[in-house]
Amino acid sequence: MNGSVPIPKAYRKPWRALLLAFAGWSPLIAKGRVRLEVYASRCLDDGGCAHRSVAQAVYSTPRGEVATVQVVSRLFDFPRHVVLGVLAHELGHLADESDGEEAELRADAWALWVTGSPVRYWSEDQLQSLGGSGKWPRPRGLHR
Ligand SMILES: [Zn+2]
Repeated sequence: MNGSVPIPKAYRKPWRALLLAFAGWSPLIAKGRVRLEVYASRCLDDGGCAHRSVAQAVYSTPRGEVATVQVVSRLFDFPRHVVLGVLAHELGHLADESDGEEAELRADAWALWVTGSPVRYWSEDQLQSLGGSGKWPRPRGLHR
């Protein structure tokens, strides 16, 4: 995706703290090659345009030497526990590197392992939430 915008100031430290926490457990993230990119567009470049399609984890090289968490800027309109839940879940995908429905549960397991908090699914949006209310475990059939 082209045209990234800065990470909102209030989320720079929390993002770095999450990265550091994951770096303690994930070799990929420990290499320091994971970036957060924020896009002003409404949709993700894979066509994800649903209300809850706000983030994706992307391996920029085939062997995952560089990886990116890409988010659309409207993510930051959600409550803080949702922003942190989404970021932790996406970092879980990068740490885990698996695919399919099981990958979603594994991403949440990583987030729990690293942060000590379960990822819940918040409100009717069913977006990830860290330290907030919501369903646990992940409802079946959700995309992302
Ligand atoms: Zn996911």
